[in-house]
Amino acid sequence: MSLRFFNTYSREIEQFEPRDPAERPISIYTCGPTVYSRAHIGNFRAYIFEDLLQRHLELRGYKAHRVMNITDVDDKTIRGAREAKVPLDKFTEQFKQAFFEDIETLRIKRADEFPAATDQRYIDKMIEMIGALISRGLAYQADDKSVYFRINKFPDYGKLAHFDLTQLQSTGRVKHDEYDKEHIGDFALWKAWDEEDGDVAWESPWGRGRPGWHIECSAMSTALLGDQIDIHCGGVDNIFPHHEAEIAQSEGVTGKKFVRYWLHCAHLLVDGQKMSKSLGNFYTLPNLFEKGYTGREIRYALMRVHYRAPLNFTWEGMEEARQALTRIDEWLARLLELVGSARRADRTPRGCVPTSQFEEALDDDLNISAALGFLFESIRETNRAMDENELDTASANVWLDWWKRINNVLDLEAESEAVVPAEVAQLAKDRENARREKNWKRSDELRDRISALGWEVRDTKEGQKLTQHAAIG
Ligand SMILES: [Zn+2]
Repeated sequence: MSLRFFNTYSREIEQFEPRDPAERPISIYTCGPTVYSRAHIGNFRAYIFEDLLQRHLELRGYKAHRVMNITDVDDKTIRGAREAKVPLDKFTEQFKQAFFEDIETLRIKRADEFPAATDQRYIDKMIEMIGALISRGLAYQADDKSVYFRINKFPDYGKLAHFDLTQLQSTGRVKHDEYDKEHIGDFALWKAWDEEDGDVAWESPWGRGRPGWHIECSAMSTALLGDQIDIHCGGVDNIFPHHEAEIAQSEGVTGKKFVRYWLHCAHLLVDGQKMSKSLGNFYTLPNLFEKGYTGREIRYALMRVHYRAPLNFTWEGMEEARQALTRIDEWLARLLELVGSARRADRTPRGCVPTSQFEEALDDDLNISAALGFLFESIRETNRAMDENELDTASANVWLDWWKRINNVLDLEAESEAVVPAEVAQLAKDRENARREKNWKRSDELRDRISALGWEVRDTKEGQKLTQHAAIG
């Protein structure tokens, strides 16, 4: 059975056909956090969807190369640094670290790369791309010294959002400093320095300034994944103008189709309303820890609804997540007990055994609710079989192996209390010291060494937690 995804570009379910999976891993680019505050659960809903996507591709035998960018320069980060009266990099560093802690807590697989927009290597790439766009007549420097993309010269502009350019006349935002643009929809590629930027500026052929947000993603994705990528993800609010602009910039430079599949995650609502600080329904992970919930429970709650359907976050939903995980834990304990209690293992399973319905549900545009439905139906059936002494140990083993396999996608198992080997414990201790000294490079190296020994280290509020990698089923 092949994979199918809903492609925002075509607005259709399409068979997934990556460029050449035999030759190279599937390239995935996901828009990452803007590090001006702690990410909220709406952001994490999208990151968990992307995690699910990557893990399912891997379950289906694909290799993936995923890049998630960090936006560490834009209006919001500059404003935050100015208000906190600290340099931009110092201001963003705290939120970068918080972000990495949070994705560990939520068991979101780390991307292969986390490029930061302020890295000189990518600034150079942005400048190179802007230069190419100007030379092709697709960009211009206005009287205000900023450089803008000329959307009228890119006929496909609006295709992703299914947007009529003429609508921009009425809906486009007018900013006081953008009066020099030829068209109201033209977006900034390079923003000329102004007083509010303070010392945040880079030299460019168009004068001192800083990049626009959209060009950051075009440059980082091209630099790390090449001109054409298989899958680009984000939240629905990224579609316009951000992803539309990325297409215009990247295709404007390369002349090649930028992205094969655009996948977008729907909004998260809280009690049926848009999350906002003024409504008091704005949650970060620490807010949920305070209420006694764990990373595993939050992961389940944010994962369980199909990514294209809005997810309504409620406290009842958190309780349901807790109950669902308890059911899984009790089921696993029961299967393990059955397997462990047998004097002699049966050879061929005679009880009920799993089918491939779980994987097939995910093949169908990542239908997680159907996949989880099948999991809980299976739990009900096997529990009944165990009640009636109808599940033999061979079948129980088949179910445990099946769980191991699907848990590579779900990653919902309770943390095991396995004994940590001395070598791993020592490395973890060294890592704790490295982190105290803010030596992130060494901390990452130590994490890799711990990982090579089959252990995973997570940073939580109570300090580091070590878990054994799930066996690959
Ligand atoms: Zn982006």
